[in-house]
Amino acid sequence: MQLHQEYDVAIIGGGVNGTGIARDCAMRGLKTILIEKKDLASGASGANSGMIHGGIRYLQHDANTTRLSCIDSGYIQKIAPHLLFRVPFMFPIPGGVGAGRVKQRLLLPAVEAYFAAYDKYSALKNGMPHTRLSAGEAYTLEPRLARGMIGAVTTDEWGTDPFRLCVANAISAREHGADILVHTEVRGLMTGEHGRCEGLKVRDALTGECREIRARVTFCAVGPWTPRMMRRFGDVEVKLRPGKGIHLVYDRRVVNHAVIAYAVDGRQVFIMPHENGAILGTTDDDYYGDPDEVKGTRDEVEYLLQAVEQVIPSIRQHRVTRVMAGVRPTLHEYGKNEDALSRSHRILDHAGDGRPGLLSVAGGKLASYRELSQEAADEICRQLGVERACRTHLEKLPGGDDAPPPSELGREFHLPANVVERVIYRHGSRARDVLALTREDKRNRALVCECEPVTEGELRYSIRHEFVRRLTDVRKRTRCAMGSCQGCNCIARAGQIFAEERGLRPEESRIEIIGLLQERWKGKSVALGGPQLAVEEINQAIHFGLGGMNPGERARAAGSGEPRT
Ligand SMILES: Cc1cc2nc3c(=O)[nH]c(=O)nc-3n(C[C@H](O)[C@H](O)[C@H](O)COP(=O)(O)OP(=O)(O)OC[C@H]3O[C@@H](n4cnc5c(N)ncnc54)[C@H](O)[C@@H]3O)c2cc1C
Repeated sequence: MQLHQEYDVAIIGGGVNGTGIARDCAMRGLKTILIEKKDLASGASGANSGMIHGGIRYLQHDANTTRLSCIDSGYIQKIAPHLLFRVPFMFPIPGGVGAGRVKQRLLLPAVEAYFAAYDKYSALKNGMPHTRLSAGEAYTLEPRLARGMIGAVTTDEWGTDPFRLCVANAISAREHGADILVHTEVRGLMTGEHGRCEGLKVRDALTGECREIRARVTFCAVGPWTPRMMRRFGDVEVKLRPGKGIHLVYDRRVVNHAVIAYAVDGRQVFIMPHENGAILGTTDDDYYGDPDEVKGTRDEVEYLLQAVEQVIPSIRQHRVTRVMAGVRPTLHEYGKNEDALSRSHRILDHAGDGRPGLLSVAGGKLASYRELSQEAADEICRQLGVERACRTHLEKLPGGDDAPPPSELGREFHLPANVVERVIYRHGSRARDVLALTREDKRNRALVCECEPVTEGELRYSIRHEFVRRLTDVRKRTRCAMGSCQGCNCIARAGQIFAEERGLRPEESRIEIIGLLQERWKGKSVALGGPQLAVEEINQAIHFGLGGMNPGERARAAGSGEPRT
């Protein structure tokens, strides 16, 4: 990629905040570059519950964050309607025993009053008002609920595919002139007189090429990596309370609603339908480790299962395909437990720390990324002396315009409705561009991933147009290898397509395939036990044994950053 001599702004980090800020800056006409060390959405933005919610829970501690999240959630719905889906929540109330029965009867109206208070915020994001359900109604809607409930209260939120949200922001930024570098690590700052930050030293993880990128303002949007990066490169202290969270991912929609349960320590957790499966989450614990090394533990899995089996007793019989773990970049506060910490954010100017030209952000949520990005871009513009208003709440994200009906596209491209519907969900009004590849070659109609489902054409489209540099990146663009088989049936074919598109040699293509297999297995071991573990070991043996993949290739594929020759 041909880079500019100097940028107005360089943004570090390709999560939802980095891509959102890049979009906003580029839309205001700033010469913008974004640098991400792995793939887009590799950090917290790819490991969350995918809720574009108002945060009913925050209402207890931080009503302003709930209000702002609801407003921003409303905007996100307007600019990316294709990427959002309703998630109805159900709060079931168990009957209790003995004297507990009376207490539980009083709990139902109290919960209802709380949900009623949330209704006025929820309306800001086009949410449905709460409803109170009798026990019979609750069982009809959610047959797997534990017996003995006295009723339930519902509310509704919005869910999204956070990977696509990041990609859509990055595409929009590029279409407004930004340069996006993925798999490129920031290794240091360029400093000038009086400690001024004048740009970045970066290294391409695939080619090993190092270069310097000059920028008038540098914005650090590296989420939970912020304290480490700022200490190492800027000699600046930024305090966070990073909070580790894990989710269990199920192979199917175990429930119809997001069902709320209480954990042993009184925290709320939930199990909810997500995409073609379900997710159970989440934990929230102070985390002191390296965000690159975060992993779920067996203990955390047990904590979540114990909680949810109180309301869905069959939960242990369902198949967990993996455990995903991430770190929240929560704002630092002393003396509060993790759940009570504010989910708001702060834009920090490091001029006062002896690093003029360097800004960073602490905190934030997926649900309010647009608002955070606007504040960040306002500050960047202020420092550059540019006066241009934000338009990210008015202009749709790529694909956000009205999409043609699935039946029409299905007829036009000879594809079944369920396949077309998924393409529309991921690409919105641009679905026709994706499907048009079937005219180039009818093999592009074939399904590569049957779980999700994903066609050869969609893979090729993503590889060509959506910042894909490694095979594992197509997973986040298309959900190929994210379904119930976790890539067992589709990775080899996806690897062939990637190799064709990129002109890779067989040994290079094998490294890509092993990389994706390893990525899938990473989150599995903690989730599996007994016979499931044995099945998984056989599965690995088939790939590594019959596939003839040797340990040296495994190490390289693990993303050691070794240049691909
Ligand atoms: C378990 C969990 C559940 C959550 N659920 C929700 C939810 O349902 N709704 C909600 O609103 N929020 C939720 N959140 C919070 C939300 O996900 C985060 O606040 C948000 O994604 C933070 O985005 P970010 O862009 O700031 O950081 P990140 O997404 O972490 O992005 C930082 C990026 O910086 C990159 N980077 C790091 N170092 C370098 C370097 N040297 N050079 C270049 N790039 C670098 C990383 O690779 C990473 O991609 C959840 C978070 C977690 C962990």
